[in-house]
Amino acid sequence: MNDTVIGNSADAGLTHLQNYINGSCSDASGSGGQDIFNPATGQNSARVTFSTVEDVDTAVKAASAAFLTWSEVSPIKRARLMNRLLGLMQDRKEELAIAITVEHGKVLSDALGEVERGIDIVEFACGIPQLLKGDFSDQVSTGMDNWTMRQPLGVVAGVTPFNFPVMVPSWMFPIAIACGNTFILKPSPTDPTPSLMIADLIKEAGFPDGVFNVIQGDKVSVDALLDHPDVMALSFVGSTPVANAIYQRGAANGKRVQALGGAKNHMVVMPDADIDKAIDGLIGAAYGSAGERCMAISVAVLVGDAADKVVPALKQRAENLCIGSGIVPTSEMGPIVTEAARQRILSYINSGAEEGADLLVDGREFSVEGHENGFFLGATLFDNVTPEMKIYREEIFGPVLVCVRVDTLEEAIELVNAHEFGNGVSCYTRNGGVARTFHRKIQVGMVGINVPIPVPMAWQGFGGWKKSLFGDMHAYGEEGVRFYTKQKSIMQRWPEDMEDGAEFAMPVAK
Ligand code: NAD
Repeated sequence: MNDTVIGNSADAGLTHLQNYINGSCSDASGSGGQDIFNPATGQNSARVTFSTVEDVDTAVKAASAAFLTWSEVSPIKRARLMNRLLGLMQDRKEELAIAITVEHGKVLSDALGEVERGIDIVEFACGIPQLLKGDFSDQVSTGMDNWTMRQPLGVVAGVTPFNFPVMVPSWMFPIAIACGNTFILKPSPTDPTPSLMIADLIKEAGFPDGVFNVIQGDKVSVDALLDHPDVMALSFVGSTPVANAIYQRGAANGKRVQALGGAKNHMVVMPDADIDKAIDGLIGAAYGSAGERCMAISVAVLVGDAADKVVPALKQRAENLCIGSGIVPTSEMGPIVTEAARQRILSYINSGAEEGADLLVDGREFSVEGHENGFFLGATLFDNVTPEMKIYREEIFGPVLVCVRVDTLEEAIELVNAHEFGNGVSCYTRNGGVARTFHRKIQVGMVGINVPIPVPMAWQGFGGWKKSLFGDMHAYGEEGVRFYTKQKSIMQRWPEDMEDGAEFAMPVAK
């Protein structure tokens, strides 16, 4: 990668991750920061310094200046640059994936999948000339036409979580900048390296300086973005309490905000389902990425006699999961992202056991030979969990699957609908009528029928309901284009078609 983007530290041996503003790197000037670890080894590999309000202001000024010219570049030229970025990201996807695995811990095949889903959005953004086409109405009144156009907002920002350091920023920046905005990314300080690699690729693709910027930081930088009068919109993805607070602060400051929050995703398994496929779906969706996905399945809702077929098989599969460093090709599940996250998940497992759920597979004592300092946990499985239990109510965000037994489809739907989160949900069945009732009645934003993790494609848009999303527009797809642009309506006529005299009545079509 380009050394100008990822600079070296003054701290011996540690890479020091910098801000990226107006096409070059600069040190953040805050006094606080965060150490970055390789979760598979527990080793401290890098450090990031947090930005101050002044650093954020510098980035906003650079992005504001760049907006003046970038917003005047024709959409087809912006699309051509996006197309170059598409090629570069495809060429470098392995490098990006390795960087993800090293700082996040997820297995390399999963990291590659994440990068590819991010690249899909870059590819979608290459179609921006078509997406920005307005609607034209000829002759709305004699000699008068009316049309709409969509114009960029200005400087827009993205604040992203640790769990998808390439894919989630890619839900935002390609569409934002293709629409003619300039962008400031505030990545998670837990794994910020991929954001700088993206900056590097954007520069190499030929985007003008200041179009894409990265600010390293914490709440101070996020609040500075939310309070800055020249930041027009902010997209957030992260936990629900932070999403809610960001939505409220941004809205109070008159900004457009989309804030995607946490999740507790259920998979309903009907007795008529293909049980082996349902078990495959549950195992992959619960333990893939160590359960650190906003679309991970964390609750299996087992209907009728499905439970007695599913639970023993889940136990056997969870006990035999191949857990190890994400870099090792045979690993199916990697470590937890940080020791603090590992401790949080441990406390949930303790609480489930104390509240009386049946702990069928206990991952608390798990370790990987040769990686004793890594942040590992084993797959964990609870049965006979009830809705009052903390392990059912709260997002654990780890490799913990809880099973709830119900008698009917109606009971399953009621259970899912009563939960405060509504991000993703899945139903395994062979019955078309059941599938139709399920997808129509369920109060969740993204639904899978025999699909465990229904993450919508780049052109469809992503978003949950209830406390999984604050704001009214989903991420990416055409909703993304609408979020990052404002509509203008123009009515036009020429003097030869105009009647003489002032009109005092509400004009109507003539
Ligand atoms: P987080 O909420 O702790 O952090 C997300 C971002 O917000 C980071 O950039 C962080 O630095 C910043 N931040 C943290 N505290 C803040 C505060 N008080 N004020 C302002 N900014 C703050 O989330 P995380 O731990 O990085 O990610 C995991 C969470 O993200 C889970 O809850 C998961 O469900 C959620 N998530 C949701 C989606 C979705 O699409 N709904 C996708 C991915 C992750």
